[in-house]
Amino acid sequence: MICFTIDVDWASEEVIEDTLLLFENYNVCCTVFATHKSKVLDTCNRNLFEIGLHPNFNPLLQGKGGNVNDVLNKLKEMYPEAIGARSHSLTQSGYILSQYKEVGIEYEVNHFLPYHQNIKPFMLWNGLLRIPFNWEDDYHFALGYEFNDSKINLNDECLNIFNFHPIHIYLNSENNDRYVNVKDNLNDIDYISKYVNKNNVLGTRDILIQLLEHVRSNQKETNKLHQVHEFFSDSKS
Ligand SMILES: [Zn+2]
Repeated sequence: MICFTIDVDWASEEVIEDTLLLFENYNVCCTVFATHKSKVLDTCNRNLFEIGLHPNFNPLLQGKGGNVNDVLNKLKEMYPEAIGARSHSLTQSGYILSQYKEVGIEYEVNHFLPYHQNIKPFMLWNGLLRIPFNWEDDYHFALGYEFNDSKINLNDECLNIFNFHPIHIYLNSENNDRYVNVKDNLNDIDYISKYVNKNNVLGTRDILIQLLEHVRSNQKETNKLHQVHEFFSDSKS
């Protein structure tokens, strides 16, 4: 089973819309972890897209004030339907995981096992399902890997969970420098557009399209993560 996920990371409406359109064009579903209020996310097709939370606890760790509950409650009020979460920077602790559960989160996706071919969800002590994931766009370019090959065997029977960022999809990032160019101008679509990777080196958008093509042409099953949560819960009962 293949699952696609997105960490929104404060992308602009145009950039989020660009990502969702790709999934719509291929009729492939995706779980979207939201960082902020977005009209595009509020109104997106819930048959294709599940909305989860992507809380940012970094300011708390940097002594900039705030607390875990406020961060979580604020996001949950924006997306009351969310039952899944992945922290920005994958921040987790026993306390954070217990507070996830307190606000009604049923599964979390903070456990990154890059290129691992046999990821399996497991239940944490507090009844939260941990769903590991095994591919991420920025990790792939951080390792200097090329974007013609995800290094994931799509033909195995195992769970494979990909994570993308809308800004890297829009920029077709092949390395981190491409993002550094635009990181202070994320809401200026004209500015960002000047930095899109249009050279011969394949990037994040190219590999996503390759994966979507693979799913469509092989009629592969894709699921949203709440469905993984349901399958796992059913198989245990
Ligand atoms: Zn993030």
